[in-house]
Amino acid sequence: MSRTIGTVVWFVGLSGSGKTTIGRIVSQELQRRNIAHAVLDGDELRQALSSDLGFSRPDRMKHIQRTLFVAQLLSRNGIVVLVPLITPYKEMREQCRASLPSYAEVYVKCPLERCIERDVKGLYRKALAGEIPHFTGIDDRFDEPDSPDLTIETDGETPASSAGRIMELLRRRGVKLDE
Ligand code: ADP
Repeated sequence: MSRTIGTVVWFVGLSGSGKTTIGRIVSQELQRRNIAHAVLDGDELRQALSSDLGFSRPDRMKHIQRTLFVAQLLSRNGIVVLVPLITPYKEMREQCRASLPSYAEVYVKCPLERCIERDVKGLYRKALAGEIPHFTGIDDRFDEPDSPDLTIETDGETPASSAGRIMELLRRRGVKLDE
């Protein structure tokens, strides 16, 4: 019998665009339905798996590769995986798509100026003051996804409706969500 592969929803977007917020709501919805899933939060993984890495290009690539490896393991075991991670470079995303048969790329889109206004974690203020080098959108590049499976513009809808669109995506991908 073949095992079902878990969908991997990879949230791509600038810091402050809404990846974590949406991921959290989707996780609650899946929890409520007893659907096995995992959230691979970038900040959390950086503190554990990637505590030896910084934000230079090679370090970012390594961090993505480690996250990708964990996502592969979980997905292969039938677990839905939510990955809120900036994933700024096109080549990283191509590697994710090529390595994960159940990859769903969601572009969490929000104008940089709006993310700077939100400045959820106070990181833009520090980056603009030159205290954080290689900060995406400030002094490191963010390649706009050119063929995401879904684009969510968070500067004009509520987190709940954004999360609802992810639930729809999961349904389309065959995740059984009906109670
Ligand atoms: P990221 O994980 O991308 O760095 P966060 O989720 O930490 O971003 O922060 C996004 C901020 O934007 C939160 O304060 C959230 O309440 C707000 N926000 C407004 N609208 C939305 C939306 N539609 N989806 C997600 N976040 C939103």
